[in-house]
Amino acid sequence: MSQLHITNSLSREKEIFIPLNPPYVGMYVCGPTVSGESHLGHARPYVTFDIVYRWLKHLGYKVRYVRNITDAGHFEEEDREAIDKVSVKAKLERVEPMELVQKYTNMYHDAMDLLNNERPSIEPTATGHIIEQISMIQEILKKGLAYEVNGSVYFDVTKYAKNNDYGKLSGRKIDEMIAGSRELENQSEKKNPADFALWKKAPPEHLMRWTSPWGEGFPGWHIECSAMATKYLGTPFDIHGGGMDLLFPHHESEIAQTRTATGNSPAKYWMHNNMITVNGKKMGKSYNNTITLRELFSGNHPLLEQAYSPMTIRFFILQTHYRSTLDFNNEALKGAEKGLQRLMNALELLNKIQFTENAADLDRGEDDEVNRLINSLTDFMNDDFNTAMTLASLFELASKINAWQNQQAKISSIKKETFESLKENFNLFVTDILGLKNEAATATDSKMDDVMQLVISLRNEARAKKDFATSDKIRNDLQNAGIQLKDGKEGTTWEVS
Ligand code: ZN
Repeated sequence: MSQLHITNSLSREKEIFIPLNPPYVGMYVCGPTVSGESHLGHARPYVTFDIVYRWLKHLGYKVRYVRNITDAGHFEEEDREAIDKVSVKAKLERVEPMELVQKYTNMYHDAMDLLNNERPSIEPTATGHIIEQISMIQEILKKGLAYEVNGSVYFDVTKYAKNNDYGKLSGRKIDEMIAGSRELENQSEKKNPADFALWKKAPPEHLMRWTSPWGEGFPGWHIECSAMATKYLGTPFDIHGGGMDLLFPHHESEIAQTRTATGNSPAKYWMHNNMITVNGKKMGKSYNNTITLRELFSGNHPLLEQAYSPMTIRFFILQTHYRSTLDFNNEALKGAEKGLQRLMNALELLNKIQFTENAADLDRGEDDEVNRLINSLTDFMNDDFNTAMTLASLFELASKINAWQNQQAKISSIKKETFESLKENFNLFVTDILGLKNEAATATDSKMDDVMQLVISLRNEARAKKDFATSDKIRNDLQNAGIQLKDGKEGTTWEVS
């Protein structure tokens, strides 16, 4: 049996995964900034780390998965003019900032549910952890690695870099960072252009503001992740994840802050998913190719030839290893749609197959081959979560299932126990590990539930009128149809018996 290996961005090598405190695993993933609708760029990291979460749980670990919501002033790029995106948008839309935050958080959650991403164990918000952020900043000030200027507090990168390896994660040299930031604005307060804000004084027009030892202001973006990860996972914890775009300055700054405040590095393993492109171009406002998840699911965008279902998107993302770039284009998405259908059809066929044993047909080579493919599913997942190769093995198995169905091959060429193992693992990997589901079936399930709620309310009406003949008939007839009604304190529920 293979062991889980993870490519650690810190060492740039594939390392054996050894948890710090087994069977517990702590994982922190940078969440979205809820100043706008979730887009394509959000689908990839959260599907990627959903897979990590599912696989770690499958391996038997007790995982605490923390994924934050950035709902306070976030500087998109730390060195640029400080912009509180939520405040700006709130003014534009004439709503309370928290109203906007709620709206986009709800939309994000809906999209994550549609993509079948499991919810994290804890989803802390930046606005809910201002106190923790302030005390971490105070700790950094106490250690002499931050300084206050005019109501703002900055991290002293040059001083930190004298004794620490600043730039190890991103592979950047401090001179390059300074050279790269020279022409940018808002540098006057800083001792050094490479320094980043821990706390920003709020200008009068700024809507989201909190009192602090340095006056009214709002926290920097990096400090929220350091504060919340430390609060819920301690230091160090096992895995810190995010997109490659967060390597610098966000994650590099997180390491500096956490090490200064706690004396420990935040995480043992750093995982980064690669970026996406749209029709070969980086997604961005300047290319006019930002596609929201809602537009993707509805097909309502000039670049889209049709709607793509959430499961198609999930499947599409899983077809490529998370460390490779991924290009969204109509052709590839249509291919993914077909591929997903083929896989789900194979699953359905497999679950209907009646296995008949016939010793005369047994083909040891074929039996070994099916077992090899089944075992490869685990090996590929253990090899740095290689979902692309896992899917490739599932497709090879799907071809065999189709051949049995078309009677091009005999199912009795494999052993009964091999067949049972195939059925169990095919279901496990498609449904539980990769999180793929048949969307048509889900729609039917939810319609069925609507119908059942109607039947239950009719039965309740009959009972209220003491028409027990009718209410009993409903219950008994449903029972005959294989549906069990259960009356409890919270009302009546139903299940297929
Ligand atoms: Zn973060």
